[in-house]
Parts: sequence; C-alpha cells; structure tokens
Amino acid sequence: MIREDIDLRRFNTFGLPAVAERYLPLTDTEQLGDPEFRTAPTLVLGGGSNLLLLEHIPGLTVHVLLSGIEWSDDRGRFRVRAGTDWNQFVRYTLEAGFPGMENLILIPGTVGAAPVQNIGAYGAEVAEFITAVHAWEYGRGMVELSPEDCAFGYRDSRFKRETGRFLITAVDFDLSERRPLKLEYGAIGAELAAAGIDTPTARDVAGAVTRIRRSKLPDWFFYGNSGSFFKNPVVPRDHHARLQEKHPDIPAYPIDDDHVKLAAGWLIDRAGLRGQGNDRVGSYAGQALVLVNRGGASGRDVLAFSGLVQERVAEQFGVELEPEVQLTGSPA
Ligand SMILES: Cc1cc2nc3c(=O)[nH]c(=O)nc-3n(C[C@H](O)[C@H](O)[C@H](O)COP(=O)(O)OP(=O)(O)OC[C@H]3O[C@@H](n4cnc5c(N)ncnc54)[C@H](O)[C@@H]3O)c2cc1C
Repeated sequence: MIREDIDLRRFNTFGLPAVAERYLPLTDTEQLGDPEFRTAPTLVLGGGSNLLLLEHIPGLTVHVLLSGIEWSDDRGRFRVRAGTDWNQFVRYTLEAGFPGMENLILIPGTVGAAPVQNIGAYGAEVAEFITAVHAWEYGRGMVELSPEDCAFGYRDSRFKRETGRFLITAVDFDLSERRPLKLEYGAIGAELAAAGIDTPTARDVAGAVTRIRRSKLPDWFFYGNSGSFFKNPVVPRDHHARLQEKHPDIPAYPIDDDHVKLAAGWLIDRAGLRGQGNDRVGSYAGQALVLVNRGGASGRDVLAFSGLVQERVAEQFGVELEPEVQLTGSPA
C-alpha cells in the first residue's frame, strides 16, 4: 500500500533527512502487476547505502523488500531475491561451503543493488559470480539479463547508466568453480600473517577482510556515510607521468596500455582535506574518501562539501572526481 510523506532518514546510511512524497514497499513480485508499476518511480530504494538524498523525493519511491534465497542447488548455484542483505548472503555461501565471495564480505546493502554498481572490494567484483539478473523492465514486464546484457564495468553497469529502466527482482550466482584465493590486495596478506595463518581458507580471508574493514571504515550507525564517495579516477598515462614527476609516491594501477587508475582517497588527502570539513559534514580522518555526516547534515551540506573536494582536487592535480554515490531528490 502506498503511504505518503515518509521520512527516509532511517532508510539511508548517510542518515540524511529526506521525505518521499509517495512510498511503496515491494514485498511480493505479484505487486508488479499493479498500475503503479507501469511507469518508473523516482527512486528504487534498497539498503540506502549508496545514496545521497536531497530533502524532497518527488513522485514514487519503491522500497525493494523481496527477501530470501529463491532456490539453490548442491553445486553452489543460487537465485537470491533482490532485497536480501548482501553481507548475510555472502556469509551464508561461506557457511554452506561455497567460497568465492569472501573478499566482498561486509559490503552494506542489498543483493539487488549489487549488480547496479558492480560492487567490488579487495580485488573482487560481483560481476565475476553473476550468471543472470531478473528484472522488471518498465513498459515491458519481467526480463532476464545475461552478464553481457548487464554491460558491467568498474563500479558501473547498464542499470546505473539506464536509471529508471529496470527494477531488479532477483540475481543468479554461480559459485561452483573453485578459484584461487585473492590475497594480494590491500592489507589481506599482512592481516593473515599477523594472525599467524600461512595456509588460509576462504573463511580466514573473510575474517581478515572483516577486521580490516572494521578498522578502516566508520560505523555508519555513529557516523552516517555511504562508503567511498567518489570513484577512483582513470587518467591517461601521460597525465599520470606528469603528476608522478611532482609526486613520486602517487599510487597508480594500470588499466590498459593507455590509462591508469589513481586513488581518489590519496588525492583528497594530498589536497589537504582528510579529516577536514565543518561541524555537520567532512572527510573521515581514517579514510579521506569517505565523507561523513558528523550530525545534523542535510543532503545539501554533503553536496556542498563534495563540490569543494572536487574543486580542490581539480585545482591541484587536474583530475576530475566523479561521485560513486547516486544523487536523488531536490532541495525542500
Ligand atoms: C560503510 C560503507 C562501505 C561500503 N563499501 C563498499 C565497497 O567496498 N564496495 C562497493 O562497491 N560499495 C561499497 N559501498 C556502497 C554500497 O554498499 C553498495 O553500492 C551497495 O551495493 C548499495 O546497496 P543498497 O541496497 O544500499 O543500494 P541503494 O543505496 O538503496 O541504491 C543504490 C543504487 O541502486 C539502485 N537500486 C537499488 N536496489 C535496486 C533494485 N532492486 N533494482 C534496481 N535498482 C536498484 C538505486 O536506485 C540506486 O541508484 C559501501 C557503503 C558503505 C555505507
């Protein structure tokens, strides 16, 4: 049933005040036959952990609450409903004896949002495990998309580029293939060594990633945030070479023959903004790339501070930072 003027503050991890003009919880795919689903809503809401909400969300907000594993088999294949908590699903697969997604543990949000920005961490991306995405296509009906149809990229997919076209209802995963553990990313190796583990299992890696994430990222319950606020920018190699002359320690990861990826957090830190801001919003001292709600921030406050970060980084390094979070709504 549609409700009016619903405050979404507790439905977004930034803790930003935002009023949805009309709010519809989607708990059963049968509802997709209702007239409300003939046209795209303003916002499809999952766990609200990758959003920057402005005060007013006009039109309809659909909150995807379809939950649970729809089917699975003993080879490690799963169909999971879109509103299922991502972290709980990863834990479930590990406990059921199907490793693979251990590096993606503790990422907040829902299974349905995971393909939207092709979530990734510690050298793994969800696209590696997805075999199909089931979605309601507005104006068409239920469709099944193959990984190729999804056009996955770095923190990107067709769902992100074609906002308003699809509402994801379920995702198929295949964890049947045994893959080598990914230990060489971030501090995983060091964390395992510190725990005295030299032949780690997937569950050891999950434990190491959990400890690293808990030590690095602010708990959004206390400091509202949406994780990494900006994407890591990709620049031409000659641009990187010029930056490296001035900053020999600049971190860079090759993407292809012509491009490298820079670390957005490093750029923000070197622009002198780590831990900076005002009493409502700022960059987190422990990880510059995370912008935090220090208490009472509005979407406009966050937007204004993020604009300042973009300006400083552009001035100092000639690099344009693109937000990873999705901006929705309008000022009240
Ligand atoms: C502390 C913290 C750490 C994080 N770490 C990481 C990380 O390591 N790696 C990473 O990739 N991300 C990370 N994130 C970002 C976030 O967790 C992911 O982007 C997550 O997938 C968002 O899921 P959600 O359900 O909260 O989506 P929401 O924030 O609700 O929505 C995000 C986008 O997806 C769309 N969407 C949501 N559900 C559906 C659906 N069913 N159908 C169609 N569209 C939908 C929304 O309309 C919106 O555009 C982090 C966030 C936080 C707060």
